[in-house]
Amino acid sequence: MDFDYTPEEQAFREEVRTFLKDNLPPKEARDPGFLKTWLERVREKGWVGFSWPKEFGGGSGGLIEQAILREEMALAKAPPLGTSFMGLAWVGPGIMQYGTQEQKQRFIPDILDSKVTWCTGYSEPNHGSDLAAIQCKAVRDGDHYVVNGQKIWTTGAPFSQWIILLVRTDFDVEVKHQGITCLLVPMDAPGLEVRPIENMAGDRHFAEVFFTDVKVPVENRLGDEGDGWKVTVSALANERSSIGEVTQMFAKLDTLKGLVRNSKKQGRPASEDPKVRRQIAQFEAKIAAMKYNGLRYLTKQIKGEPLSSETSVNKLHRASLEIEMDDFAVELGGTAGVALAGSEEAVDEGSWAKSSLSWPNVVIGGGTPNIQRNIIAERILGQPKD
Ligand SMILES: Cc1cc2nc3c(=O)[nH]c(=O)nc-3n(C[C@H](O)[C@H](O)[C@H](O)COP(=O)(O)OP(=O)(O)OC[C@H]3O[C@@H](n4cnc5c(N)ncnc54)[C@H](O)[C@@H]3O)c2cc1C
Repeated sequence: MDFDYTPEEQAFREEVRTFLKDNLPPKEARDPGFLKTWLERVREKGWVGFSWPKEFGGGSGGLIEQAILREEMALAKAPPLGTSFMGLAWVGPGIMQYGTQEQKQRFIPDILDSKVTWCTGYSEPNHGSDLAAIQCKAVRDGDHYVVNGQKIWTTGAPFSQWIILLVRTDFDVEVKHQGITCLLVPMDAPGLEVRPIENMAGDRHFAEVFFTDVKVPVENRLGDEGDGWKVTVSALANERSSIGEVTQMFAKLDTLKGLVRNSKKQGRPASEDPKVRRQIAQFEAKIAAMKYNGLRYLTKQIKGEPLSSETSVNKLHRASLEIEMDDFAVELGGTAGVALAGSEEAVDEGSWAKSSLSWPNVVIGGGTPNIQRNIIAERILGQPKD
């Protein structure tokens, strides 16, 4: 096994580091126009849609370089490379794979140029884990569909311009994965109503989305009618990367070590406390295990084998590790550890307290731990379904 990077890959890492040194001022020195300039610069570098083909405006970059780029960006705690996380992660890849020529021209450039933000309308009040059971209905009426129903937990709905929506176009099917269709819907369509939901941390990022006789032109259908399940599953698999889960954890551990260095335990530096040291070492070991697991899957991808179920392993690890790290940081801060931003006492601007209240983001968002365990048991370990 060879963990060394090639000279070209190392040169690319240096290029990213130099770019960050030149273009990422410390937080306190950033002016109001910083984000716009940042997004333009990373776009000029071809780093937005890094692995997307050049013909669509992407960077045509390799998977190892993409992992290096993500790692360096995370360690530098840089802003994202685009304003639409979901646009870059699965909507864009889905459109490149299944979209019509007209859809590619219409949607891809705006995602790369951070001109639009996309949200994802999959979950419904009674159908989260069991996604294929969706009931939100679309009926074809000439050159458009009429959509009625409800979605929930739609992250980014209050500030997105478009939603990638799964609807049922056929109820008379043998298996529930059939009869599902994927539509691309503007959030300002008449009859579409967004009702934000406040989470425990006081944020209003996600929402309920209601559809009452919303007309969606047939030209906004992604893939064929009834092919929505295939479109969704393969679009998601496209951009899956087990290593992606880890890069954020490096950055989090780095911040946690900073907190330890600046904290005291029973009047002494926390960094001298054996329990604290052991705990940090455990986090480091777990993250290293995730990293090598991610590299194993990355090797698979480089060999041309698509990823699917394997990404559940790191997703499951990350969920529990994030909670453990947040709890540890909050406890280390004592009473100040639970103070949120705005309080004079707040530790690290209240970010640990906030993140410990936001655990559903990483634990439930994208599929619960039980569902990941089912996937690992059935599809990786070959255990029986019942
Ligand atoms: C922060 C956040 C952001 C989200 N963003 C989005 C978004 O942008 N778009 C979107 O469409 N959805 C989004 N979701 C919804 C998310 O995908 C669902 O909440 C999730 O899939 C679980 O579905 P559910 O809430 O209906 O729970 P349920 O499916 O009802 O699950 C309830 C419990 O039962 C367990 N369970 C269910 N089925 C099984 C089974 N077969 N075997 C074992 N245990 C099982 C689950 O693990 C869980 O513990 C978001 C959720 C959160 C918390």
